[in-house]
Amino acid sequence: MSTRAQPIVVVHGGASEWYAGTSLGRAACRRAAQAGWEALAAGGGALDAVIAAVRVVEDDPACNAGIGSVLTSRGTLELDACVMDGASLASGAVAVLPPFRNPIDIARAVLEDGRYHLLAGDGAAAFARARGFAPCDPELMITPDRRAEFEGRGSFERGNTVGAVALDANGNLAAATSTGGMTGTIPGRVGDVPLVGGGTYADEHAACSCTGDGEAFARACAAFWTVEHVADGAQAAAERSVARVLERYGGYGGLILLDEAGDVGIARSASAMPHAIARSDGSVIDGE
Ligand code: ASP
Repeated sequence: MSTRAQPIVVVHGGASEWYAGTSLGRAACRRAAQAGWEALAAGGGALDAVIAAVRVVEDDPACNAGIGSVLTSRGTLELDACVMDGASLASGAVAVLPPFRNPIDIARAVLEDGRYHLLAGDGAAAFARARGFAPCDPELMITPDRRAEFEGRGSFERGNTVGAVALDANGNLAAATSTGGMTGTIPGRVGDVPLVGGGTYADEHAACSCTGDGEAFARACAAFWTVEHVADGAQAAAERSVARVLERYGGYGGLILLDEAGDVGIARSASAMPHAIARSDGSVIDGE
């Protein structure tokens, strides 16, 4: 564990062409990175930082997570989220979760409970209620654009999956990812996001959060592969991983990677993936 690393928070707002024409995704990521940074400044660890950051983008209707999530082929919400603590290698995830406002908080509750790595569907909902989380009225989470898209009143592409990685002052890393999945998939479909090593992974050397074609990223064990190759350099590992998912598994997308020295890797094969980086000097920069 390094004690020399400067704390840092990196957030992505998902791979989506729609972002190329708007600053909404970058703005959402900036707010999220700032929230993650404030969690660290308040004495929180990397886990607190990624949860705080992901909550902000889950609440942003531009993104496909929490409020603003895409709908299944039946017009329902099925939410996936995962969080992993690099120091302890503990993780928690939910999949096919019915509407709850911040799925990432329930993923954290699964991690803290400690018995399971992933809870799905009705069981995940029952666990959440038992932990004091209140189900949310679906109409409060389904945005007009998502409803119109489902009803065939046009294409209303919006933002996508959200994720964060953080390094705290003790040199600990964490990763978190949250999504509504992919538009119009059949109920029960689960992508890469809640799968440890698929869309989300963290250990003592690096943390990674992915977005994109979930089947491909899952088959590629993309987040794990990226973290395993971080010794190549964070940016090189990120680029190699995204290229590997595309060339070998046929999936487009992107990812963010953070290593124990605070070096960042950001790569995408999709045409846009807004992101933001909050550093210990107080700066927040964003990109696409
Ligand atoms: N990877 C997400 C999923 O498959 C969706 C995305 O990021 O585009 O559920």
